Amino acid sequence: MSASFPRAEVVIDLSAIRHNVALLASRAAGAETMAVVKADGYGHGALEIGRAAVEAGATWLGTCSLDEALALRRAGIGVRLFSWLDTPEADFSLAVAEDIDVAVSSLDELARVAEGARRARDFSGLSAISRVHLKIDTGLWRNGCPPAEWPALVQAAAAAKPLVDVVAIWSHLACADEPGHPSVDAQAKRFAEAYDLARAAGLNPMRHLANSAAVLTRPELHFDLVRTGIAMYGLNPVPAAEELRPAMTFRSSVVLTKRIAAGESVSYGHTWTAGRDTTLALVPVGYADGVPRTLSGRMDVWLAGRRRPVVGRVCMDQLIVDCGDDEPAVGSEVVLFGEGTFGEPTAREWADKLGTIDYEIVTSMYRPRIHRTYLEAGS
Ligand SMILES: *Cc1c(COP(=O)(O)O)cnc(C)c1O
Repeated sequence: MSASFPRAEVVIDLSAIRHNVALLASRAAGAETMAVVKADGYGHGALEIGRAAVEAGATWLGTCSLDEALALRRAGIGVRLFSWLDTPEADFSLAVAEDIDVAVSSLDELARVAEGARRARDFSGLSAISRVHLKIDTGLWRNGCPPAEWPALVQAAAAAKPLVDVVAIWSHLACADEPGHPSVDAQAKRFAEAYDLARAAGLNPMRHLANSAAVLTRPELHFDLVRTGIAMYGLNPVPAAEELRPAMTFRSSVVLTKRIAAGESVSYGHTWTAGRDTTLALVPVGYADGVPRTLSGRMDVWLAGRRRPVVGRVCMDQLIVDCGDDEPAVGSEVVLFGEGTFGEPTAREWADKLGTIDYEIVTSMYRPRIHRTYLEAGS
């Protein structure tokens, strides 16, 4: 990037990531910490986040797909990697070769994973073993093995030794972000039953269940390992305040300013009309860069020391800010969302206005036109 100031940039503060990982690890002190870096690290960059998380104490990284895990391993990540949602086409021999743990939700998937170990054995002549985390569906009804099919799965998995080594059983919570929701206890109860059945089948697995919300609110559900995603990025999934620091700032800069007269209307559709003479600042980011067009007329940016309203429609590549009688210099920084510490909008504020969750806001910032920059402490 030649320009010192890219037109659209997300800045990721790795010291915030390390702070958050350390905080979460201390809250789950009896358990190991898995940093969840699926979807390119929730839009923050899987490799950079993974490295920072490991520096701060994470001993596992979690991904959605084997491809995501392989990319991390091949980039030099040495900690345990766990991939949990692969398609029937996935080549599980690669998981064996690259030392990646995989999830199994069904007898079918168990057979494919065992087959992967067999193929890896044929290639390498070594005693290749698939390391497996059996997933019990305790009531999210997404992936995972339904309780009715669990006894058969644990028995088949135990019988698949030595090709398959069951290292864990695990599950995922539906409503941990609503503390006190009765489904959490109901899921925990089914999880305990599934564990007993696994033990009865001769397995001795570790257990993991907690996502970020359960790390923060349900210490008795931390078990051996916790899977922290959103809170590691500094976004708080639970109602109680936490000392988390949002790591992502989305920013741009002013490329042009102009004075317009009262009565002039601005941007496509002329949806906003200046009530008095005013100065507009043009910012070269739009909905192609992740600024939702539905925020037209109802979002602010931080510019030249204060919040200012975006006026008229957000366009594909640009938006317009009303600066009143202030005249910000061309090149001035414009913060679209950030940590929130000096009054700038936050990803949470966007999510609330849009009727979604901040997970979706930050994850959608992974776009070809957005330049990503990493900040280290002190830089
Ligand atoms: C995404 C995900 C997590 C992390 O959830 P957060 O709410 O972001 O902490 C944990 N486990 C599984 C299976 C996931 O898919």
